[in-house]
Amino acid sequence: MHTEHNISLQPFHFFASEELASYFTVLHKNEDVSDAIEWCHQQNLPFLILGSGSNVVFTKNFPGLVAKMEINGIKKLNESATEVILEVGAGENWHHFVSYCVQKGWGGLENLSLIPGTVGASPIQNIGAYGVEVQECIQQVTAFDTTTQQWIQLSNKECNFGYRTSLFKVAVKRYIITHVQFVLQKQPQLKMDYGAIRDMLHEKGIKHPNLESLSQAIIQIRTQKLPDPKILGNAGSFFKNPIVSKTQLEQLQQQFPNIIAYPISDDSYKIAAGWLIEACGWKGMKKGNVGCYEKQALVIVSYGIRSGREVYEFSEEIIHSVAQKFKIQLEREVNIY
Ligand SMILES: Cc1cc2nc3c(=O)[nH]c(=O)nc-3n(C[C@H](O)[C@H](O)[C@H](O)COP(=O)(O)OP(=O)(O)OC[C@H]3O[C@@H](n4cnc5c(N)ncnc54)[C@H](O)[C@@H]3O)c2cc1C
Repeated sequence: MHTEHNISLQPFHFFASEELASYFTVLHKNEDVSDAIEWCHQQNLPFLILGSGSNVVFTKNFPGLVAKMEINGIKKLNESATEVILEVGAGENWHHFVSYCVQKGWGGLENLSLIPGTVGASPIQNIGAYGVEVQECIQQVTAFDTTTQQWIQLSNKECNFGYRTSLFKVAVKRYIITHVQFVLQKQPQLKMDYGAIRDMLHEKGIKHPNLESLSQAIIQIRTQKLPDPKILGNAGSFFKNPIVSKTQLEQLQQQFPNIIAYPISDDSYKIAAGWLIEACGWKGMKKGNVGCYEKQALVIVSYGIRSGREVYEFSEEIIHSVAQKFKIQLEREVNIY
């Protein structure tokens, strides 16, 4: 196994802060994964798997091995009149994979166009956007279980997917995902429930959308709404949308009639965290080298931070002020190291 010593993590994550990894390696194949874990056990060092680094904040140097996932490849396992089953390497770029499916006419993932990251990270927080979650297309996940040192295959049910969570997010660092199997539809039902999608299609004069035009509409919406990480370092939505009961929502509505909430079951509602943050006056606010994005309060951006600690402390202040005003405890969606 080839490792490098005292490597700056700056090029490997979107906030591009300057923390170091004691050791760094790249994983190209399954054996590299088991070798890396064995090496960490022998050296008594912690490990961290990195995809494209779009959902992490480093607040200090990492005192162990950072292993960058680069197991690639897209393999067709099966095809019927209605479905295609693909096995995809964890290191494949997520958006490239979605575009590949869209070009082939295989539907299911088009609403997740332009989400940054790797295929292997997609099941971890069950990535989602515009009414679709990746779990809807995942059949199976292959992973190395670092506790038992065994290779395992987990069915969709075993992955225990939920809103921005899964078995992999809960059992932090236990599983290293190397491949994901997806089931895609050859006669897909397009999902266009979101007003923003309908508005964009209308604006573009598209009356009969297909996979390609839907994907393009979503790319355009996201480009307008979210900061380009190459210009302003960020990790997308920094916080999860909090979930409250119907009674809690009704109490909040008495005091804050404009609060934005979406029903997710008979008794639970998702509150727009961006609305809460904006109502506390954070939208567009800048402190030192960190700020709350001017077009979307849920996104924390870097104006040239040196340490992720600055981002972390800024997020603490937001959590504190939302808790004071609304008695709601925001949870971070990003992974803090
Ligand atoms: C501009 C922007 C927009 C975004 N929009 C969305 C959105 O709409 N919806 C959404 O859900 N997310 C969104 N995100 C968040 C991000 O894109 C996803 O979380 C993505 O899946 C992270 O992929 P990554 O490869 O960059 O993971 P990393 O940031 O590299 O890693 C994230 C976590 O997963 C772990 N990990 C990564 N790969 C593996 C693996 N193979 N095995 C085990 N553990 C692993 C890491 O250790 C870390 O804890 C956005 C981010 C940005 C910057």
